[in-house]
Amino acid sequence: MSLNAGVIAVQGDVSEHADAIRQAATAHGETADVTEIRQSGIVPDCDLLCMPGGESTAISRLLQSEEIAPEIQVHVEAGKPVLATCAGLIVAAADAGDDRVENLGLLDVTVERNAFGRQKDSFEAPLSVTGLSEPFPSVFIRAPLISEVGDAEVLAEWDGRPVAVRDGPVVGTSFHPELTPDSRIHGLAFFGD
Ligand code: GLN
Repeated sequence: MSLNAGVIAVQGDVSEHADAIRQAATAHGETADVTEIRQSGIVPDCDLLCMPGGESTAISRLLQSEEIAPEIQVHVEAGKPVLATCAGLIVAAADAGDDRVENLGLLDVTVERNAFGRQKDSFEAPLSVTGLSEPFPSVFIRAPLISEVGDAEVLAEWDGRPVAVRDGPVVGTSFHPELTPDSRIHGLAFFGD
């Protein structure tokens, strides 16, 4: 039976995440049906969820107004996996230090928006990630800094700063794992390796 995968499709790299989910599922001997989520009522049927990057203020506003936010919280309370990337990480965090972002508190971390610089400071770096045997090519675009880590595991650091974390079923990355053809971060988040 196929897994039901949901990608929050308010904004951001939706099709790239969908491709990476399918690719990771195949690599783990599974198949995944991917649904784009723009309204409430879909998350409860999902086995796994992706929260893409984009603009965290806009994503947060829509998750609240469409009443998707509480459904994501129930999904995590049930122990089902979530991969939250870049702006997704900002929304998933416990605190983003910005009143315009209503944090979901899925990850026990504090983040600082745009702390890795502006659009022109975007960069790609090979990262050692706990659970992956080879470095992962990581693309950072106006990425958030994870400034404080509470009860969460740091999976990767760049320049001595955490850039990937796990808190129970939720994995958050400052970078964009969907922008390379490598689906191992999706594999790690959804299949554990
Ligand atoms: N700078 C964006 C924000 O703060 C995040 C950037 C991204 O998702 N690439 O919401």
